[in-house]
Amino acid sequence: MVRLQLGSSASTSAQRTSRQQKSRERPSANTRERDGARHSSASMAASAKGRLVPLLAVAAALAAVLLYRAPFSKSLGGEGCSLLHHDHFWIASDRVVTLGRVGPAAVEVKGGLVNAIAVGDYRNFVLRRPLLDYGDAVIMPGLIDVHAHLDEPGRAEWEGFSTGTKAAAAGGITTLVDMPLNSYPSTVTEETLKLKLEAARDKLYVDVGFWGGLVPENAFNPSALEKLLNAGVLGLKEGLVTLAKYKRPLLIHAERIPDVEDGDGLADLDPRSYSTYLKTRPPTWEEAAIRDLERAMKDTKAGGRSEGAHLHIVHLADAKTSLKLVKDARHSGASVTIETCPHYLAFSAEEVPDGDTRFKCAPPIRDAANRENLWNALLDGHIDMLSSDHSPSAPDLKLMEEGNFLRAWGGISSLQFVLPVTWTFGQKYGITLNQLASWWSEKPAKLAGQKNKGAILPGYHADIVVWKPEAEFQLDESHSVYHKHRNISAYIGQQLSGKVLSTFVRGNLVFAEDKHANAACGVPILADLK
Ligand SMILES: [Zn+2]
Repeated sequence: MVRLQLGSSASTSAQRTSRQQKSRERPSANTRERDGARHSSASMAASAKGRLVPLLAVAAALAAVLLYRAPFSKSLGGEGCSLLHHDHFWIASDRVVTLGRVGPAAVEVKGGLVNAIAVGDYRNFVLRRPLLDYGDAVIMPGLIDVHAHLDEPGRAEWEGFSTGTKAAAAGGITTLVDMPLNSYPSTVTEETLKLKLEAARDKLYVDVGFWGGLVPENAFNPSALEKLLNAGVLGLKEGLVTLAKYKRPLLIHAERIPDVEDGDGLADLDPRSYSTYLKTRPPTWEEAAIRDLERAMKDTKAGGRSEGAHLHIVHLADAKTSLKLVKDARHSGASVTIETCPHYLAFSAEEVPDGDTRFKCAPPIRDAANRENLWNALLDGHIDMLSSDHSPSAPDLKLMEEGNFLRAWGGISSLQFVLPVTWTFGQKYGITLNQLASWWSEKPAKLAGQKNKGAILPGYHADIVVWKPEAEFQLDESHSVYHKHRNISAYIGQQLSGKVLSTFVRGNLVFAEDKHANAACGVPILADLK
C-alpha cells in the first residue's frame, strides 16, 4: 500500500521554495521548544449542569492556578514509539490538506515536526530522504478531540488511557483532551492532576491534555453545592476574570436542570420509548442555561469586565433558540465558541429504536429537523467545531437488556469512529476536506491553546492522519475496535465511508494497517504558567 522511495540528488525548486518559506515562518529549534512548552496548555474547563455554572467558574479559576508543568519528559523517537524506523522522511499523496488547499504535495517530517512542504507533483521530486507514497489517499492534520472522557484513574474499567488512546490513534485522532466525568480522583487540584499523570504514564498512544473541573459527585450534591454558593465570595465573573488572565477557556455544559423537575405524567409513559426520554430533557433546558450565561458572554466583549476570557459551549444539541442566543452574543462581540458532536449530526430522534439505550446521551439527540439545522449552522460557521464527547461507560450501566431510557447511563461511545462518521453523514451536505480539517483540527487546536498543532505547516508538530475517504466498510463484528467496550457504541452496525490508513503523532507512526506501535509515546500536554 505504501511505497518507500529512496532518492539522493538535489532538492526540487518547490522544495527550495518551501524551505525558504519555512525559514521565514519558523523560529529556531530552541525557540520552538520554548514556545511549545509555553503554549501547551491544559486549559481549564468547568462542565456541569447549568445552574452550577457560578460554582464551576470558581473551580475552573482555581484549577487554572494549580495545574502546571510537564511531569515526565517526551519520549520522542524512543524505542518502539513508531512503526517506522526513520525520524526524517517525507510523506506524499495527491490529496494533501495544507495551506488552505487540497492537492498533490510532499511533506517533510524531521524530528517530530513538519520541516518543509513541497507542493506539486511529488513523483517528479528527487528527495534525499525516504518517501512514504500514499497515492490518492488524503493526508490531513490529525484530529484534535477536545472533549473525550477516559475516566482514569479510579474507573479504568470504564475506558482508561491505554484503550482510549489506542482507539483515538486508530481513528486518526492525534490529540485528545480528557474531560473530567466520574474518574476518581478527578482533575481539580495539583495533587489529583499528578495522580492522573501517574496513571497515564506509558499508556498514551496519542497526546493528551486535561481539562480541570468538578465531578458530578460534588456538583450534583445539592447541600455541598449550596454551601459553596451561599459562601458567595467567588462567582462566575470572578472566575472569568481569572481565566482571562490565564487566557484559558471556561467550558460549559449548557443544560439547566429546573429547580423543581416536572415529573408529572412521566409515570404513565413507557421508559423504553425514546420519546419518553426526550420529554425529560427538553431544549428549554439548554436555552435556560445559555440565558444564564448572557451576562458572562457580554463581559467577554472588548472593554468588558472579563475581556480576554473565553466561553465554550460543549455539545450543543438545540439548533433553535439556544443556538440563536449564542449567535446574537457573538454578533455583538462576545468571545464564545460552540461545539457539537457527530451523534447529533448522524442520528435523529425518529430513528432511535425503542429500548436501544446506546443512543442515550445528554443533551439528547433531537428530531430530524433539528439535525438539519445543526448541519446548516456548522456549514455556516455558527458552530465552530466538533468533539466526540466519547462515553467511557461500563456496559452493564447502559441496561441494554432492560432498555430503560430513564435509568440507563447516558453517553455515546464513539472515539474511534468520529472521522468516518462525520465524513459519511456529511456527504449529503457536500462537506469538504478543508471543512473537516477546520472543525476537527484547526479550531480545536485554537480552543486548547495549541499553537503548534491543528495544521500541516512548517514548524508544527507532525500530527497527521492518512485516510481513504472513499473506502467503505461495515462497522460489524469483523471490524477492529479498540475501545474497551465495543458493543455499546451506537455506531455498531453502520455502513461508513472513510478508512484510516496511518496516524502519525509528532512524527511517530503510531498506527498503520490495523497495528499500533509497540510503545505508547504520546505526551501529556500541560500548561506552563511561566
Ligand atoms: Zn462530556
